[in-house]
Amino acid sequence: MICYPADVREDEIKAINDYWVTCDASARGFLYTVKEIDACHKSEGVRFIMALIRNCSFLTSHSAFSCEECQCKSPVNSRAGYRDRMRNFNGFVCRECLDVRENKLLGDARQTIQRYKNDHLQETFNLESLSFEETLFLLALLAGRVKNDDCFLYESPEDILITGISTIDMDMLTSFLRKGVITYIYELPVEVKSASKLLHGDSERLIYDKKYKRYRHPERVKIGIYLNHPKLNGEVVVSNVNAILYQKLQSITLSINEVASINNIIKEIQLYKLYQLVQEISKEYVLPIDNSNVLNALLEHLSKKYSPLSVNFTFNMQAKETIVYMRKKPAPDYIEKNYFTKFVGDYVQHVESKGWKLMKNWSLPPTVLTSSFEAIFSKVYLNEHFNWNMLSASEVVALWLKNVRLSESAQNLLTEDDGTQ
Ligand SMILES: [Zn+2]
Repeated sequence: MICYPADVREDEIKAINDYWVTCDASARGFLYTVKEIDACHKSEGVRFIMALIRNCSFLTSHSAFSCEECQCKSPVNSRAGYRDRMRNFNGFVCRECLDVRENKLLGDARQTIQRYKNDHLQETFNLESLSFEETLFLLALLAGRVKNDDCFLYESPEDILITGISTIDMDMLTSFLRKGVITYIYELPVEVKSASKLLHGDSERLIYDKKYKRYRHPERVKIGIYLNHPKLNGEVVVSNVNAILYQKLQSITLSINEVASINNIIKEIQLYKLYQLVQEISKEYVLPIDNSNVLNALLEHLSKKYSPLSVNFTFNMQAKETIVYMRKKPAPDYIEKNYFTKFVGDYVQHVESKGWKLMKNWSLPPTVLTSSFEAIFSKVYLNEHFNWNMLSASEVVALWLKNVRLSESAQNLLTEDDGTQ
């Protein structure tokens, strides 16, 4: 069946009919070429066939021309369209039915994701049940959130830097998982993966909008660590979780165990910085440094008494001295790798025997990062007015203790043994 344009002439109809004469023997599938049709019907006022065809449509009884779902007829208006329909024929479906089909697929995908979220990301936990240490860590953990109302925290446990000391951070994460504070989704079922792919494409990562703000599609579910829904007085807290945690930290009265545990974390953080500095020194000066017990004891002593900045000055000075000495008196590797520790140890002993202190500072390399624990701790207790890199571990602890409320037993114990330092 052919539909002709309204303004078509009698002789133009013949040309159009010739255009649509099919021929199985021909490679093109049609009996006449466009050129032949134009040549054959060339007479006064007859338009070129390609111009006529544009407003014309062609339909046959072949099943490729009717939708297999709604049975509506769907004509083509070019030979290319005809060939395409015949070639790719594996059941024709019209545009409207395709849209319905696609909408259904998308709707199903959204449902699959929602169902998965309902099953896996609906857990709640009580803010009241958190210990002092957990409250502090949770606040530091939330500092890494992209958006304040986003329950997605990190892509993997390896990305988490609370104190920077992996044993401490992992212990806390394990305890958070046990208490139901966080959920770790490390694998998605196949149907959720394909639903997500259908809705949002392949990209697993964060995307950027036109204003270069990071965002994640709200429907997307991906592997990573999620914050469960916090509850306070039996009600789910939707916003201001950070403010509630701050308040809790400031109003808490600390027991002696809590003081000891934070004291230990502060020491570990400051000590870890010195280990990183030793690594940097070894790299920068191409100086072998053995990770010996003597070094460990020296670093522990230094981290308690001195700031990382002042220790770094001493390290750099003594590294230079060590190099000069090694050039003068070369020795086997197993001896040379203890020189740096010996030089630093002797120097510190000399300074302390005179009653002096390490005073000069040397800035820290960018590889020594400030952990989110440090940042949050300073914000909560010290109005952000201090920098851990300028303080020894003992000084940090002392400053902190001035700003917290202690239980009576903790006070007594600290007065008895002059603190936990
Ligand atoms: Zn249809």
